[in-house]
Amino acid sequence: MTVHQPRPDAASAPAIDAAATQGDGLGCHSGKQALREAAAAAGSSAMLEQFARDYPVGPHDKPQSMCPAFGSLRVGLRMRRTATVLSGSACCVYGLTFTSHFYGARRSVGYVPFNSETLVTGKLFEDIREAVFQLADPALYDTIVVTNLCVPSASGVPLRLLPKEINGVRIIGIDVPGFGVPTHAEAKDVLAGAMLSYARKEAEAGPVAAPRAGRPERPTVALLGEMFPADPVGIGMLLAPLGLAAGPVVPTREWRELYAALDCAVVAAIHPFYTASIREFEAAGRGIVGSGPVGVEGTAAWLAAIGAACGVPAALVGAAQNAILPAIGAALASRPIGGRITLSGYEGSELLVARLLVESGADLRYVGTACPRTPWSEPDRAWLEQRGVLVQFRATLEQDLAAMAEFQPDLAIGTTPVVQAAKQQGIPSLYFTNLISARPLFGPAGAGSLAQVVNAAMANKDRMAAMQRFFDGVGEGDSAGIWQDTPKHHPDFREKFARRAAKARAMAEEIP
Ligand code: SF4
Repeated sequence: MTVHQPRPDAASAPAIDAAATQGDGLGCHSGKQALREAAAAAGSSAMLEQFARDYPVGPHDKPQSMCPAFGSLRVGLRMRRTATVLSGSACCVYGLTFTSHFYGARRSVGYVPFNSETLVTGKLFEDIREAVFQLADPALYDTIVVTNLCVPSASGVPLRLLPKEINGVRIIGIDVPGFGVPTHAEAKDVLAGAMLSYARKEAEAGPVAAPRAGRPERPTVALLGEMFPADPVGIGMLLAPLGLAAGPVVPTREWRELYAALDCAVVAAIHPFYTASIREFEAAGRGIVGSGPVGVEGTAAWLAAIGAACGVPAALVGAAQNAILPAIGAALASRPIGGRITLSGYEGSELLVARLLVESGADLRYVGTACPRTPWSEPDRAWLEQRGVLVQFRATLEQDLAAMAEFQPDLAIGTTPVVQAAKQQGIPSLYFTNLISARPLFGPAGAGSLAQVVNAAMANKDRMAAMQRFFDGVGEGDSAGIWQDTPKHHPDFREKFARRAAKARAMAEEIP
């Protein structure tokens, strides 16, 4: 059923600058600068400035991960009673929905298509508005999340003008353009931050729903960042001797958990890049503690920091440390890791994994993360650098590969292209997202959890060398494969076209 509501005052609604996105189909292939300029022309400079403050990109400005919007999409799809609607180019939506279902979303993704006419005339916003009214059934949903992808963001489709609530269903409109949000990890923060902001204002306005299991008796520590399901339980056991409990994990799985998260005593920024979420917690008066309880030293420091933030007496903190640290030390000692490792990823937990590897005895030389350096990653950065590990924030694929080439590791842990390059060189490798970040990291359960998979992978060195010998002679790069006539490289052609392109660019710059 379509419910018709008064439209926002057309005079007050900023014009959609669709012309700004015309040309050769703007998307991530057409360059960030063109999209940024289009967004600025469409009146979205404030949004871009906020992104630049929250997710600083320098010095590389080229982190390479999947479409950032996948991060926020995944957060919405994991929440109960939450509908998700995308507004963007069909090819982007196809890619994002494909990936969502590949990762087991089991949930429909709404889509409001557009063409140049609906974009130019502003009808796209009206279509989105109508779709949201049709979808807003309180029997089914607590929340509807509408996400502008690159082209609607660049042309300024004003999701902020959507009603904040329809029939009791909350409406949250966010822009997650690839030219403003550098990684899919940070896109999770865009939605988590928007939800926390909404929930904080609700809580300030009056009573809100209590947690499903009732309010906890002890003060809680909200856990910021997605983690292995057993980790919050393990962290809760570490906190119990301090008189504290583990609070909800943000991003949450249910709306009412947002209130419980905001109701915490302190926030543990386990993933240190959740800048927008941290801003909301700080606005609610909550303190933030970086790092996490990894290994002996990490757990000792983290318990001390949490204790200090919550006013727990030092003697109680010391007793809690003494009770748990020997068990963690014993678990690490019983499952040591030997060998040289390089590590890279884009999840945001890379530095914590790195600490665990070092405490397990690994000769770790490099850790690269696509995420930015923040105040909450400082304890881990300092600890790793003191132990001679090269830490690279906003790492590029080229830097990850250069580290592998320089350090010649026994194991390269990394993203898909790093793993692929390692295999080609006969270096054992592990995919960070599927095989490393999907394991417990914290407390006694985390200690030693990496040893089995890491040591097994390193023991594969001979098999990797045998595979390399087996595939020897099938070519590489453009000439890889079995051919009747192996493709010939023509570097002279490439040079010729590079010269022509440079000349064309120079001429274009000369024309006023
Ligand atoms: S929405 Fe994602 S896939 Fe589409 S143009 Fe932007 S970054 Fe690329």
